Amino acid sequence: MKSFAMLLASAAVLAATPSALSAQNAPQADTIDVSLPTQLPRTAVPHHYALTVTPHADRLTFDGDVAIDLEVIKPTATLVLNAVDMTFSTATLTPARGGGPLKGQVNVDDASQTATITFPGTLAPGAYRLRLVYSGKINTQANGLFALDYKNKEGADARSLFTQFEAADARRFVPSWDEPDYKATWDLTARVPANQMAVSNLPAASSKPIGGGLKEVRFQTSPTMSSYLLFFASGDFERVTKQSAGREVGIVVSRGNGSKAHYALDAEAQILPFYNDYFGTPYPLPKLDNVAGPGQSQFFGAMENWGAIFTFEYALLDDPAITTEGQRHGIYSTEAHEMAHQWFGDLVTMAWWDDLWLNEGFASWMENKTTQHFHPDWGADVDRVGSREGAMGLDSLNSTHPVVQQVRTVEQANQAFDAISYQKGESVIAMLENFAGPDVWRDGIRRYVAAHAYQNSRTTDLWAAQEAAGARGLSVIATDFTTQPGIPLITVGPAQCVGGSTVVTLTQGQFSADRPQEVAARPLSWHVPIEATAGGAVAKTVTNGRTTELKVPGCGTLLVNPGQHGYFRTLYSAPQSAALAAQLPGAAPVDQYGLIANSMALSLAGYQPMGTSLDLLSGMPPSGSATVVQRIVGRWDDLYDRLDGNAAAQADIAARVVRSYGPRLRQLGFAPKPGEPAVDAVLRPTLIAQLGKYRDPAVLAEANRLFSAWKTNPDAIPGSLKATWLGVIARNADAATWDALHERARATTGTVERTSLYQLLGRAKDEALARRALDLALTNEPGKTTSAGMITAVAGAHPRLAIDFVLSHLAQVNQLIDISGRSRFMQRLAAGSRDPALIPVLEGYANANLAASDRKPIQQAIDRIRSESSQTQRIRNETTAWLSAHPAVGAAGGRKGERG
Ligand SMILES: [Zn+2]
Repeated sequence: MKSFAMLLASAAVLAATPSALSAQNAPQADTIDVSLPTQLPRTAVPHHYALTVTPHADRLTFDGDVAIDLEVIKPTATLVLNAVDMTFSTATLTPARGGGPLKGQVNVDDASQTATITFPGTLAPGAYRLRLVYSGKINTQANGLFALDYKNKEGADARSLFTQFEAADARRFVPSWDEPDYKATWDLTARVPANQMAVSNLPAASSKPIGGGLKEVRFQTSPTMSSYLLFFASGDFERVTKQSAGREVGIVVSRGNGSKAHYALDAEAQILPFYNDYFGTPYPLPKLDNVAGPGQSQFFGAMENWGAIFTFEYALLDDPAITTEGQRHGIYSTEAHEMAHQWFGDLVTMAWWDDLWLNEGFASWMENKTTQHFHPDWGADVDRVGSREGAMGLDSLNSTHPVVQQVRTVEQANQAFDAISYQKGESVIAMLENFAGPDVWRDGIRRYVAAHAYQNSRTTDLWAAQEAAGARGLSVIATDFTTQPGIPLITVGPAQCVGGSTVVTLTQGQFSADRPQEVAARPLSWHVPIEATAGGAVAKTVTNGRTTELKVPGCGTLLVNPGQHGYFRTLYSAPQSAALAAQLPGAAPVDQYGLIANSMALSLAGYQPMGTSLDLLSGMPPSGSATVVQRIVGRWDDLYDRLDGNAAAQADIAARVVRSYGPRLRQLGFAPKPGEPAVDAVLRPTLIAQLGKYRDPAVLAEANRLFSAWKTNPDAIPGSLKATWLGVIARNADAATWDALHERARATTGTVERTSLYQLLGRAKDEALARRALDLALTNEPGKTTSAGMITAVAGAHPRLAIDFVLSHLAQVNQLIDISGRSRFMQRLAAGSRDPALIPVLEGYANANLAASDRKPIQQAIDRIRSESSQTQRIRNETTAWLSAHPAVGAAGGRKGERG
């Protein structure tokens, strides 16, 4: 899956026939791994499902009829499989070797999400066909089979159906062995309205009218795959296609949206041959679709169903009315991510959710690598540092977890989709690829994919393949970083110049944001691959124990972790830091951002004074790399927020940012320029939003001018800046402005733009208006998948208000978010708060609503608030002292006098 938070980020192949695929890959009963923490008894194994579904979209129910070919592997009187929200009418079991059907008694257990089917006598081991006739529910959030409503091209109400099964929701669609290692083949048949298009993993094998305005579409047999990868959709769709590497790639959209699909389609066609080559195993299915759904989820943007990726429209369609340049890059990276899963996840699947990172860390890393390959001008190497920092934010807390973790409940599986699985996974893989070298690493991946295709794997299988490919010494590093939580802290000793080389002692400890003394006394230890440069060649070593001597060619300024591939924090001495700050303008963008982010984290956690990192932050030239500037402005804003309550210091920071970066915005201009660099088009909205927040008069005047014009002419604001300019207006809105925005939201029919406008209503800084947005979210007006986004928007400026509101309307709000995301929504809302008074509120919520085993996200929110609030006073004191000692002088580009 592509997480929601991050969105806010040619070999010729022979067409293998599906039947050849399934025959060649049928699982054997004795391959079932009894050591996995399954929630089902290991008494039977499914091989093939033949499923017919008849949705009744108008009444939100469906009928199902499934025949499951299975093998009983131990004598048993019952079969236990997964099922939720289903009513069974028939259960019969027919032995493959003759004999009449046995009637079964079905007992459903809501708590364990299982159906137990009891037969009159003991079933002998052997092959059987289990037939179940049942009915189920169509949901209105993205779990199981779900409906998304929208206004069609003609402005009429329309409803499409889609499925979302990861991690454990296939069981809402079909009674099944719904765990990743029960791979089987699938024949799906759907009875849908004759004027609709039905889509599944494989192309349709046949389609025929069946009367009553319906048609029956039978899809080709799938290859052996996990249940969570099955997909079905039906609606008033159109499909655009291209040929690429001997396969048909397609984008499926609501009718009328075809022209917005070409950006994604071109990306898909470009990436497929690149992956065929990289993975060494060609994409095995005859087609690859990406299906767009209107609406959104608070927890994911896209899902890698094999052959039929699902993506919400806002992350797939390039709409000139609303899509920003940054979102366009997001469309590309989402395609790259979900397509990487077609191999890492779909062809080779983790055996159990403990190894979810194998899916998500790998796809996140591949997405970044692919973007760097095809779009080297987008600054994706700096984005990789952003991922590292995102991971370290969580990984520096006591309540973090190892990359490979224990998952024992459905909720824990849902909660595993976090910054550790995605961003730490990505960062660790980037470090290991750099250690192995890109060619060896790619060869290791090819071996791994070939060895485990159509099967399941574990993390250790990947390390074994890498060692076999020649990455000697990789396993010990990889094991340290994936089985232990936390972040190594490398302290750099005094550097000495000896015979033209820099000689330095590195001391290893552990970095912690919330218990630095405790980890300093008993740090974990890692084999850390470290690179360093002192103006000459890059020296490499791997730490082994507490101290490591390093000899680096050259006697220039010592930079540890050039290129920022390492997953660790580096603590320099004050003179070393000062030397790096002086040389910052000439450093590579990836190191500029890496140094500043590393230093800020150390200062914020109390490992060094704030001044050390503020010297670096203020040393970044405002005329520097657009990708870095964009993030630097965000760093200043983080400090601004931490100074809440100290108006003078906040005004000082706002003035510095306006003075430094205002000229950059004037140079870029308020409107997009044809042919400008993509990174400039991404930087512009960031600067507009930031300067708008600080009430820069020029930005506010332009926002007001555009808003007035837009009220009568929807095209008055360029589409790629619409959400940005209206965001400035929404944040500073009074009641009349808010009403005008609301009026336009109501009148807008395009689903992506409409959702964007409703969410803007939640951005008002004015608390009374924020309350109105919350009340509006609980009405039917915004639409079923928009309301939760409005509440999240309110939480940005008013976290406590949003949380109190949700707690007093919990049952209603739960209907507005994915079932699989309910235990994480509160963590999301708390993300903008550093108020310790929130801690008992969160604890009370967790105790009352979550099982003890499922409270980790809330504990992480609490740990973060506790650690940040404990540092607030020190951060304020040190920052205000630094601000007065370094008065901002002159215009941008002329701030040299700042550092004393
Ligand atoms: Zn993913």
